[in-house]
Amino acid sequence: MSDAPLIAGIELGGTKCICILGRSPDSIIAEERIATTDPEATLGSVEAVLRGWQKDHPVEALGIASFGPLDFNTSQIVRTTKPGWSGADLGRYSKLGVPVALDTDVNGAAFAEGRWGAAQGLADFTYITVGTGVGVGSIVGGKAVRGLAHSEAGHLRIPRLSSDDWPGHCIFHGDCVEGLASGPAIAARGEENWKAVAHALAMLIHNLVLTTVPQRVLVGGGVVTGNPHLLGMTRVMLDRSLAGFAHAVLLDGDPDFISPPALGVRAGPLGALALGLDALAG
Ligand SMILES: [Zn+2]
Repeated sequence: MSDAPLIAGIELGGTKCICILGRSPDSIIAEERIATTDPEATLGSVEAVLRGWQKDHPVEALGIASFGPLDFNTSQIVRTTKPGWSGADLGRYSKLGVPVALDTDVNGAAFAEGRWGAAQGLADFTYITVGTGVGVGSIVGGKAVRGLAHSEAGHLRIPRLSSDDWPGHCIFHGDCVEGLASGPAIAARGEENWKAVAHALAMLIHNLVLTTVPQRVLVGGGVVTGNPHLLGMTRVMLDRSLAGFAHAVLLDGDPDFISPPALGVRAGPLGALALGLDALAG
């Protein structure tokens, strides 16, 4: 892989940023962590790291995988619940003079799974992370679903279990998928109702199967890795929900249609590398 292009990546997270320099997961040259404080200090520190790397290495592109929401027209973080960060300008890195790709952290992680992880060789797949929120990266035809903005399928409204009237925990929607299945939602509920969590994920995937039509759905994040039985429960509920409809027949022969991702926490920084590689591909 030594002939692969050298890419710098930034995973911009709510508590820390990871700057990474490399060509692939097996060829990482440098990595630095920077605490996420206020935008000027944090983004300035990141820029200093990148400029230092550029002095010593022929960096060919930059990928930025950031928390959101993101406005792709202005390259800004917009209307975020993180204090001080609404309007943070990620476009500042264009002055580094290399191609830059910006996408959400979840879409970056999805691309990393597609390049190096559990979705290799697939052009159409979905990456779901269930942790502090529910993030969904929908890759269709090799590209992340994008229109007016990035998609946010973690906030889909779904039918509820008939026995369940807990109001949910999303500050915008109450009982959207994130409001029912995220880690904070489970904590706020005060009891571990795994049936309700698996049901929410199954309803989300039902809707994704019929809209973005993935060949595989990867489901990870802290809630799922800590409770791996959720994947099997979700698959059973998905099959029951699809009820033999055409797409259900296509899934029948694939026991791995719902699978765990392969890259774990490395999907974040590797996602930034994957975005940088895509920036070169143009
Ligand atoms: Zn919501």
